[in-house]
Amino acid sequence: MGKGTQAQLLHQRLGACHLSTGDVFRAAASRTDCVLTPAMAAALEYMRRGALVPDATVWEMVRERSGCLRCQGGFVLDGFPRTLSQAESLNRVMQEEKLSLSAVVNYELPLAEIISRLSGRRVCKKCKSVFHVAHQPPKVEGVCDHCGGQLYQREDDRPESITVRMEAYERNTAPLIEFYQRLGLLLPVAATGSPEEICARTVAALEQRSQSAK
Ligand code: AMP
Repeated sequence: MGKGTQAQLLHQRLGACHLSTGDVFRAAASRTDCVLTPAMAAALEYMRRGALVPDATVWEMVRERSGCLRCQGGFVLDGFPRTLSQAESLNRVMQEEKLSLSAVVNYELPLAEIISRLSGRRVCKKCKSVFHVAHQPPKVEGVCDHCGGQLYQREDDRPESITVRMEAYERNTAPLIEFYQRLGLLLPVAATGSPEEICARTVAALEQRSQSAK
């Protein structure tokens, strides 16, 4: 259970628009009725390997959905930005649109726990519910408790892809911690416990921040 689950819970609790760049790529990968642009086909190949999709492709996709940034209930960006260049592009658009970020939540978890969560994750093909082979197993192995759909392992949750993802994180995404710390936006939250506990912790941290900003 990771940031996607938290973004979904925050979307439900706060009524904020949820924009997940990873979900957009996965939706494109699972569509059989459309011809992918060369950029999108290349993007999906990067994703399968666990590598980051090039900034230009990600940015084009976010721009197409920039209406989300003007959502009445606010917005939760999930998995974006992941590089300094993406963060700078986002800053530029936010300034143009006279918008601002309230906080950048950094979920903290020991590396061994991250690897265990990713490698044991199983997702329902039909309803996208998430399970874990050890921490949240389905009643019947390989079958979704909610809709009976087949569970599968995401290609990028395989060991060789996880290694690539960890390297991409260290090289490209970790520098964003300092970037957002300097802007006074970083909000570290411990990602231990149940999804509901983590969500409650996140909401409390966000509320505390908005109180102290007044
Ligand atoms: P996620 O579901 O956020 O873990 O994203 C799954 C995969 O989609 C990542 O491992 C990348 O290959 C790709 N992806 C998602 N968001 C981005 C982004 N902001 N920049 C580059 N690649 C991304």
